[in-house]
Amino acid sequence: MNALHLPGYRILDFKQNKYDYLYVIEPEEPPYVCIHCGSIDVKFTKHSVRYRDVVDIPSQGKRVLLRIKHRRYKCSACGETFYEPLNGIDTFAKVTKRLKEYIMEQAVKRSYEDIGDEVGLSSQTVKRYFDEVVMEIRNNTKIKAPRVLGIDEVYICKRARAVLMDIEKGIMIEMLESNTKAALKAFISSMEGYENIEAVTMDMCPAYKYVCKELIPNAKVIIDKFHVIAFANKALLKYFNAIKNKANTAETQELWGVRKILLTGKEKLTPDKVAKRDAIFKKYDELKIAYWLKEDLRDVYLAADSKEAFELFYLWEENVPKSMKHFVKIKNALNRCKQEVINYFKFPDENLTNSFTESMNRVTKDYVRLGRNYSFDIGGGGNYA
Ligand SMILES: [Zn+2]
Repeated sequence: MNALHLPGYRILDFKQNKYDYLYVIEPEEPPYVCIHCGSIDVKFTKHSVRYRDVVDIPSQGKRVLLRIKHRRYKCSACGETFYEPLNGIDTFAKVTKRLKEYIMEQAVKRSYEDIGDEVGLSSQTVKRYFDEVVMEIRNNTKIKAPRVLGIDEVYICKRARAVLMDIEKGIMIEMLESNTKAALKAFISSMEGYENIEAVTMDMCPAYKYVCKELIPNAKVIIDKFHVIAFANKALLKYFNAIKNKANTAETQELWGVRKILLTGKEKLTPDKVAKRDAIFKKYDELKIAYWLKEDLRDVYLAADSKEAFELFYLWEENVPKSMKHFVKIKNALNRCKQEVINYFKFPDENLTNSFTESMNRVTKDYVRLGRNYSFDIGGGGNYA
């Protein structure tokens, strides 16, 4: 093996400076087979030589450039000429195969610029190689559409990306570069058997709903319980924050002590937590109303079937005071997609919310495991369901 640890080459010359290594190399063996006629063991005569520069993986903190003496041969059987194949380098590629692999590995944790600086390529070129490999993988493996598809979004570096999940298997199918309708449409229609998707769970984002109506009109759109409850928790926190912003130091401390209690389901509270909660409610009436509106909305999900759920939703809406404007907003939003919210009750055998939150948690973990040091903010607003 040569110093490059790239088999099949002889090193003819070597130069270095502070930043770079340059290796002039040539293939060790002449070609074995004619790429035109397939002849083996016939005479191949040297026709011409071209030097080809190929970027390789960095070594000892320096960039590595291979200058390959690439020979063109003439086949005595068919008379055609051809360049000898190069080991570890795709035909006429400007980088080695192992550099492409290195880029794929590094791109999950570093910026394209950073990798480009290290290996000696522009950030655009690094991105292009990354995209090429991703496309290759995608084209080679046609993803099978799940029976129940979950769509959600995550924010990575303040940019929303759509996440698609197989809800039944509890796994992530794909994370898209963006969350636009076009991206979602392109991806869903690329899945094998997407026409047969039976149900799609999502948040209240109308764009996702319309994509599904257009592409898979027979699939039931379900707004997941997780998102509805998260919505209510966010509203509750708005009241909480408004009070906290006006509070003095002692009051602030007391409020922080109940924040988590307020976001926890009432049935999960121990008696001393209930006492703490009720003590706060004596001081802040609006917080109390907001809390019970949130809890009552959670109770709607105890309905046995869709008919009962409709009735409970109706009762809940009736009880939202006009003065509680954050909850009036929820009421209006739920009204606009009532059918999709109620569809949740039409899948009684499947615990969609659990599968959903489990999938989302796994997505987060997968990302962390891959070494992506991004802060994660799940679209729904946390694990509240
Ligand atoms: Zn030939």
